[in-house]
Amino acid sequence: MTIPGQLAPSPRLLLGPGPSDAHPRVLTAMTTPLLGHLDPQFLDIMAETAEMLRQVYVTKNRLTIPISATGTAGMETCLVNLVEPGDKVVVGSIGYFGNRMIEIAERCRADLTTLKAEWGQTIDLNVLRETLQRVRPKVVGLVHAETSTGALQDIEAAGKLCKEFDALLIADCITSLGCTPLKVDEWGIDAAFSCSQKGLGCPPGLSPVTFSDRAVAALKARKSKVQSWYFDLSLIESYWGGDRAYHHTGPISMVYALREGLRIVLEEGLENRWARHLKNHLALKAGLEALGLKYTANPANQLPQLNAVRIPDGVDDLACRKRMLNEFGIEIGGGLGDFKGKAWRIGLMGVNSKPSSVFLVLAALETVLAGAGVKITPGAGVAAA
Ligand SMILES: *Cc1c(COP(=O)(O)O)cnc(C)c1O
Repeated sequence: MTIPGQLAPSPRLLLGPGPSDAHPRVLTAMTTPLLGHLDPQFLDIMAETAEMLRQVYVTKNRLTIPISATGTAGMETCLVNLVEPGDKVVVGSIGYFGNRMIEIAERCRADLTTLKAEWGQTIDLNVLRETLQRVRPKVVGLVHAETSTGALQDIEAAGKLCKEFDALLIADCITSLGCTPLKVDEWGIDAAFSCSQKGLGCPPGLSPVTFSDRAVAALKARKSKVQSWYFDLSLIESYWGGDRAYHHTGPISMVYALREGLRIVLEEGLENRWARHLKNHLALKAGLEALGLKYTANPANQLPQLNAVRIPDGVDDLACRKRMLNEFGIEIGGGLGDFKGKAWRIGLMGVNSKPSSVFLVLAALETVLAGAGVKITPGAGVAAA
């Protein structure tokens, strides 16, 4: 075998559902020389990272740590730690990732009740209330920002309901953290999970989770051991929090990355960051609509950071995305699940939520759509943006 050449990927603008581009400062931080994972200096770096994570999640939760794996590991961590076989669990699914939560809850052998909304819609709070009243679950799982449809679920209101019926609320905040308002303590979220590669401007590889005192108490009150050794928070916590006992080798460079990503978020300020995502979304939306593209999500619950639009009839999904990538260096996402072949997903997350992303993707889309035979006025999208 000949040895492959040195890495030389083409330049890309990552405007899909994730990963989004990492901030240059994050990539630089990752080249910092390694420390041992139990080096006192690294332990300080871990503590700083956890403290900044608390600020970004807007929580005082002591148990706030990044799990060493991608976002789905956070989902799995929350479920396997809080659900024992036979526990009553309600999962609300509004798309592909809600269905993933259902799949994991089934594997935890939960006594499961599922609520499903049509793709693009969200779970009706009256339906949630009735279900909580009838089922009286221990745990409720909801997706805050459903990346497959672009819909935003009202987690604040769901949090109030879960408190009222004494259920623990698990929220998938993978696409919301660092992009849209999220206040873990104020909203009554008991367990939240996210990822490093969407709103936080880091590469994929870490999944920040946070557990409320109620969730920690539920974990301590378990009758059976957590089925996963690696994701057992009582063990991981003693590495991140308590006596710094060896559990697994911390991914040093990824922790450096997250630390830098969080520093950047806090320097900008959460409110400013949320406002920036909204502003750039509104510009993109004006442009996409001027090109005749229709959003898949109910406009009342549209995510700013993920813009899912229907592919016009007769337009070849793959051919267009290939042109976007090969000619313009822009990655946009295809549809998942019910929306496979039917939707494009344009992410404006973290670093990439900026005017230049909006104008570049619109200009490229205009060219590609015109080439695919769609009737558009050249320049209309960019002008509207
Ligand atoms: C991306 C995503 C996930 C999965 O995260 P990975 O990092 O790919 O494991 C889960 N839920 C939502 C809402 C997501 O957008």
